[in-house]
Amino acid sequence: MTDDVQVLNVEKYDAMYTEAIRLNSFKNWPFGEKSACSASKMAEAGFFHCPTEQEPDLVQCYVCFKELDGWEASDEPWTEHFSHSKICLFAQLRKPQKDLTVAEIFKIESERKKNKTKRVIAQRLQNFRTMTDEMEEFIQGLIKATDVSKKKK
Ligand SMILES: [Zn+2]
Repeated sequence: MTDDVQVLNVEKYDAMYTEAIRLNSFKNWPFGEKSACSASKMAEAGFFHCPTEQEPDLVQCYVCFKELDGWEASDEPWTEHFSHSKICLFAQLRKPQKDLTVAEIFKIESERKKNKTKRVIAQRLQNFRTMTDEMEEFIQGLIKATDVSKKKK
């Protein structure tokens, strides 16, 4: 199993709040209901399916945003979720949506918002670093060009 951090699409997470909506995302899930990682068990464990061409079994947690792929039929979603994302409150609670208390639901939502904000900030910081790297490269190019023109004189 591999885990990735990919480009953030913030809006899709808000839509994955309920188990039923997450389950709906597993229409083309490669594992059947008899597998340990069946669509219903994946949705129960907080995952939604977000396949790519290279990663047809890629899923993501709606609370911690951890991405996991490389699933095997015997993989247990709650166990995999917690082992790859120990900080995830949803994985720590290990409760299907129907068994959550109102207090737990509020706490999960608070954690989810916190994680989302961290992700957005990390992505913006990354974008900023890319921009400053490009700017530095541009300035270095200008300095080199200036040095070359000085030598010619
Ligand atoms: Zn999680």
